[in-house]
Amino acid sequence: MILNIDDWKFDINLEDTQAHSSFSASRHCTCAYCENYYRGVRYVSPNLKGFLADFGIDIEGPVEMYPFEPTICLVAYRVTGKILEYGKDAIMVDHIPVLPKPEDTNNFKLEVGELQLPWVMLEDPEEVVSPANEPEFLERMYEKLFERRSGDFFICS
Ligand SMILES: [Zn+2]
Repeated sequence: MILNIDDWKFDINLEDTQAHSSFSASRHCTCAYCENYYRGVRYVSPNLKGFLADFGIDIEGPVEMYPFEPTICLVAYRVTGKILEYGKDAIMVDHIPVLPKPEDTNNFKLEVGELQLPWVMLEDPEEVVSPANEPEFLERMYEKLFERRSGDFFICS
């Protein structure tokens, strides 16, 4: 299926993306950072869910989640398909950048964010127990953060 959004053009396999995404959603992480994203994102972006659904993505089925701070995160979703034409800039959904990035010949990712969320959970955000607080993950997350702050074209513009 061909999908045109702004100056981007995609060829996506909707069924495959839906199957993979709903599987991810069925076993997604339930830590407070992730739950806060699923519950809080509707307040900052009422349109993101529908935007992702056009690709076959369930908003609760990310493949990566980076809570750089408890309320600032970057979320990546996987799409089965190809980026046929690259746009000049990230796609903006309710002022949130969504950047398509190729992964391999059959898949690409949509990186959503960074976005700032309200904290809607009862837990103290500073005391969350999460795989995101494990040392190996923190290292990967800081690498990601550094890569974005130093290289990405849309973050500081
Ligand atoms: Zn989590």
